[in-house]
Amino acid sequence: MKITRNGDNRKTGKQLLDCKIYVRKNFGVVIASRWYYDFVSENSYLPLCDLLPEEDAKILKEAIVQLDEPVELCTQITNRRQEGFRNVYLRLENSDRTEDGQPLYLITLLDIVDMEQRLEYVEHTIAKYRHFMTLKREYYFEYTLSDNKFVVYKYVNTKSITVVKQDLDEFIKKYENDPSFTKEQDEQLNAFVAHLKNRSHFFEMNFTCTNEDGTFLCGAQGGTFSGDPDMVSGIFNPEQAVSNEVYYLTTAARDAGTGLLNKKAATEYAIDRLKLAGETPCWIIIMDIDDFKNINDSFGHLFGDQVIRFAADTLQAVVGTRGVVGRFGGDEFFVMLDQINTREDLKTLIKTVVKKIAYEYDPKLRITASIGVSQYPTDGTDFGELFGKADKALYIAKEKGKNRHIIYEEDKHGAYTNDSIQNQAVAYAVSKEKRRKALVEMVRNIYTLGAGYVTEHPEVQKDIRDMFDLDGFTVYGDYGRTVLCRSGNYACEAPDTGGELTEESYLALFGKEDVLVQTSTTKFKTQHPGTYQSTKKQEVGATLRCIARKEGVPFAMIHFDVFNRNRKWSDVDIEMLSVIGCSLGSQICAL
Ligand code: GH3
Ligand code: MG
Repeated sequence: MKITRNGDNRKTGKQLLDCKIYVRKNFGVVIASRWYYDFVSENSYLPLCDLLPEEDAKILKEAIVQLDEPVELCTQITNRRQEGFRNVYLRLENSDRTEDGQPLYLITLLDIVDMEQRLEYVEHTIAKYRHFMTLKREYYFEYTLSDNKFVVYKYVNTKSITVVKQDLDEFIKKYENDPSFTKEQDEQLNAFVAHLKNRSHFFEMNFTCTNEDGTFLCGAQGGTFSGDPDMVSGIFNPEQAVSNEVYYLTTAARDAGTGLLNKKAATEYAIDRLKLAGETPCWIIIMDIDDFKNINDSFGHLFGDQVIRFAADTLQAVVGTRGVVGRFGGDEFFVMLDQINTREDLKTLIKTVVKKIAYEYDPKLRITASIGVSQYPTDGTDFGELFGKADKALYIAKEKGKNRHIIYEEDKHGAYTNDSIQNQAVAYAVSKEKRRKALVEMVRNIYTLGAGYVTEHPEVQKDIRDMFDLDGFTVYGDYGRTVLCRSGNYACEAPDTGGELTEESYLALFGKEDVLVQTSTTKFKTQHPGTYQSTKKQEVGATLRCIARKEGVPFAMIHFDVFNRNRKWSDVDIEMLSVIGCSLGSQICAL
């Protein structure tokens, strides 16, 4: 049944923890825990089923006829009297009691709200202890006797980071083969292992031991505990270990602005973590805030800093102990997740982060982010490769118009080659900056040198194609009747477009700005069949077109085309190509 909290009146009785009720086959109550009588009061003579919703009572009545397995339900029990009810987990099972030779059945009730509150309390307590453990420099060890597994870890950012995870005998073997291991250390190790294997109740000893990261164990305290008799656990005290500590565990590894791990530390952590990942799926996420420069320009750097801090805190809070968050500089963040198993969970996490950031500044400002993701081990096992692929996905997210996340898929996004180890996001930023400069230069030349600067110079036409990844580029003049220039290997000569430019139905496809953006030319099939035919003949898959008018009449037209493929034009492409097209068109009209 549907659980609702309205009317779940906490004042109707004492907190219910665990209530047992023995009933007859007809659900008449024989004896019950005190809580039941307090809660139900004078209605306690009623069969228990009369206090449950009809549909749940029906299930129980049918089940009790032949009760082989226990039946479990989430339901509501009402006391009728005060219109109060409790959301409960109910379990019906056979019991070993009888009454006049007839079997009695045991019903257990657990209060769901109470369980939730207890869970919340436990989670809060765990988080608090993780916080305490983060503040200590100590390493923690656990040894499980049944599988001989030995684990050493420490807490960073309230998250446990594993330093050793192996069979205890393998762990010992490493030191047996180490010539630098002294006799004294050898004795200590033997004593330590004996404590583990004998499940010593409590031990405290000197223990100096080195691993690949340097000396990290100097004294050990441990023993068994009542929670798990199969386990011996304890603490290594690393007093002299500070100078040899792994970089990402040190305070220098923190980014001053946000407290997140810096780039070096996050990278080192991810490399270490991947070594231990085995079959566990991990995700590498790179997030870059969109148009952050505009935020700085419009609201100032201090506000920009605040946004970066908020984004960092949000990432940290949402990721929690499911991974580690770093800042790679500027408005770029890095996340390595090792506790998320499914793509759905990953998407939920990403959506939560971007929504929280957007809501914080809404409606003053619309803050969005672009995100690239890759997955271990599907996309690779090496950090460099995984980072490169997440970076490539981020680059594509930016190119496609930002405000989105892209999970790398080779089939969709093309193979990742090693030469792109250079940070793709940097390449994107540089290319964007470069394109901006080239655009300014080009428009200046069009206005000072005239349309001929483009139409008469194949190398300039090629520059435009390269800059925007175009396959073809055509400029029409004279009311669309003349081709002034054509660049790229079109499948056939230009059809006569003069007709098109006089057709209202064709012109209607252009917006107010006289720009037409088409992701896929198959859309022309219904919109304008003539254009569909001509683009099909020319094998144009996507196109962006601009019109320029002479005394209000369309006179020039510029086509930016890609062949045999669709293209989702990014906002930057649309903006920049429109500027080139319109400046060129206005100069052609001015001739
Ligand atoms: P895009 O959508 O392409 O990412 O555009 P963008 O404007 O966000 O550009 P980009 O990511 O390339 O540039 C980030 C800018 O963030 C560059 C720099 O001016 C600014 N920035 C870098 N670090 C800080 C910082 O600590 N505080 C502030 N306020 N701004 C920073
Ligand atoms: Mg940015």
